Amino acid sequence: MIDIENLVKTFPATGGAGEVAALRGVDLEVAEGEIFGIVGPSGAGKSTLLRCLNLLERPTSGRIVLRGDDLSQLTGAGLRAARRRIGTVFQQFNLLHARSVRANIEFPLELAGLDREQRRARADELIDLVGLGGKEKAFPSQLSGGQQQRVGIARALASEPDVLLCDEATSALDPTTTDQVLDLLAELNRSIGVTVVLITHELGVLRRICTSAARLADGRIAEAGRILDLVSEPGSVLGDAIVPVGV
Ligand code: ATP
Ligand code: MG
Repeated sequence: MIDIENLVKTFPATGGAGEVAALRGVDLEVAEGEIFGIVGPSGAGKSTLLRCLNLLERPTSGRIVLRGDDLSQLTGAGLRAARRRIGTVFQQFNLLHARSVRANIEFPLELAGLDREQRRARADELIDLVGLGGKEKAFPSQLSGGQQQRVGIARALASEPDVLLCDEATSALDPTTTDQVLDLLAELNRSIGVTVVLITHELGVLRRICTSAARLADGRIAEAGRILDLVSEPGSVLGDAIVPVGV
């Protein structure tokens, strides 16, 4: 459902001449309905890849094809429409602090031009979906980290995206809350069929919910595959890391 072809992203070097190559030719295919994990060391290009996927960065070259539509060179209304097909969940939640849970979730629907009644109905569904019933009127500062991330997930799903992208979405949370949020993502993947692409530095996340994974190193895909294949493949760094010691 997502085909990434020879994706290159370079940035001007900070404070000097030359360029930083964050992505050096990434090829990756994410199939419909997957929970796809992306791992790799700091600086490998994970966030840059995700920011190209959610159209916050424009690739230097290469293509991103979502269900047959090339997203890499869109501008104006086409770009705005494509962004609605991709939901993003952030590490630090990025909620609007002066707005209630309901108003945070309704925000993208306001931008999309839905009227009050339509927004209400959709927000009610989403609140139910992420298990925040009873918290509609609370403000982000009155919620736990896990609850705030549920708001972030509901907001990301508001425009009924084809894919949900998560950049370290659980790394600000404690282990129990992390597991609850991961289980919610898995449940949403099953119930509404949304494809999930998540960046993580925790192998436990791959183990718990991912169906496939890729390892990014120095701006390239070092290996990728289905979790079941990786763990049985001799010499797979990811496979060896995913299987707990002693198994
Ligand atoms: P981490 O695990 O630390 O979050 P990452 O894999 O997400 O790392 P990126 O944030 O994608 O890594 O960064 C990849 C490379 O691109 C790094 O060398 C980084 O310094 C560089 N980079 C990223 N964004 C910019 C930018 N806006 N300007 C200049 N260089 C950048
Ligand atoms: Mg990052």
